[in-house]
Amino acid sequence: MKVLVINAGSSSIKYQMLDMTDEHVMASGLVERIGEPSGALVYKAFPDTEKEAKTTLEQPIPEHETGMKLVIDLLTHPEKGVIKDVSEIGAVGHRIVHGGDKFHAPAIVDDEVEQAIEDTILMAPLHNPAHLAGIRTAKRFFPDVPQVVVFDTAFHQGMEPKAYMYAMPYEMYEKLHVRRYGAHGTSHKFVADEAARLMGKKPEDCNLITLHLGNGCSMSAVKGGRCADTSMGLTPLAGLIMGTRCGDVDPAVYAYLERAQGLKLSEIDMIMNKKSGLLGLCGMNDMRDIHAAVEKGDEKAALALDMVTYRNRKYIGSYLAALEGKVDAIVFTAGIGENDDIVRAMSVQGLEALGIKIDPEKNAVRSKGARAVHAADSRVQIWVIPTNEELEIARQTRDLVAGN
Ligand code: ADP
Repeated sequence: MKVLVINAGSSSIKYQMLDMTDEHVMASGLVERIGEPSGALVYKAFPDTEKEAKTTLEQPIPEHETGMKLVIDLLTHPEKGVIKDVSEIGAVGHRIVHGGDKFHAPAIVDDEVEQAIEDTILMAPLHNPAHLAGIRTAKRFFPDVPQVVVFDTAFHQGMEPKAYMYAMPYEMYEKLHVRRYGAHGTSHKFVADEAARLMGKKPEDCNLITLHLGNGCSMSAVKGGRCADTSMGLTPLAGLIMGTRCGDVDPAVYAYLERAQGLKLSEIDMIMNKKSGLLGLCGMNDMRDIHAAVEKGDEKAALALDMVTYRNRKYIGSYLAALEGKVDAIVFTAGIGENDDIVRAMSVQGLEALGIKIDPEKNAVRSKGARAVHAADSRVQIWVIPTNEELEIARQTRDLVAGN
């Protein structure tokens, strides 16, 4: 089965076409700056594993519909295309950031599912409307193809109430659904399943701590293949320190800033999401720039690095306790997790007494593949596993459509 994976943002469409007979990527790309004066499209076709044929376009792309039409024209193009006709597409898989508490698993799109995504817009005001635009556009172009939605929150629905409830008046949960939902669930599930496979175990038989460290950062405690706890909350602001997000702070900071500066809640929300984290601490939000600045003696950059990795360590410690000390492996993934040996080393530094010991040489090796980086005498294994959210969405889409 060929699956088209779509991740529609407010001004972009990221897409990937996979042939699920051997899970290889046939084509992938990005439509950007939809609705802006000058739009752009990148299309990469992979006629075989060695070759990559890239096409770029620069033109106004007024809405998602035009962007999708350009993508379909390229996918089916006589020379550049990878399929003859859209009828070759067996299913479309859509990434959805927030499914609220309604979705524990992927779902085939029908009116009820669309309504449920619509009902969750307040939880993901930027993402869910864009996802709906993507779904509606795809339905128009592929009316006979099953459309599947895969939720970033679904994996975390495995949490028990003691992990997802907030200690606030119970009506706020009952009436307004205020609780922990988490994010990056598709990535946490993918690397957790991969880690189990690489360790020669079934997901049900191992406990893991997974760290997704990219622009957004989150950590999950995974118990027997299910999420037991996760660091992001009602929104993706909670937990770890991120590129521009503060992660955990005293919730009363809101009230204090209002009293002290007369700031509106929406302004504070913007500061915490867009001007905090690494950027707020030292003016840079790319970890590579921060390392370069630390080398030059920048004290604020050094503090930011220290804070990020200290927060990671504290969360690892708390998830070790949540999993009652029974942890098979710690898994690092995403831009920083996959590429940054310094952050990895500092995030587990000093945890030897807890059975966690990294091998500095293995950790320093740069590679695109999955690899183990723990010392031979480490009780807990440490893995670096490249995430692949598109493949996970395509797998879940195929399984649902094929009735597996
Ligand atoms: P997203 O969360 O947007 O998917 P990624 O997972 O691609 O982001 O992560 C992007 C971040 O990864 C960058 O902001 C940068 O801080 C970090 N990163 C990427 N490559 C490296 C590298 N070689 N060394 C350190 N950090 C890196």
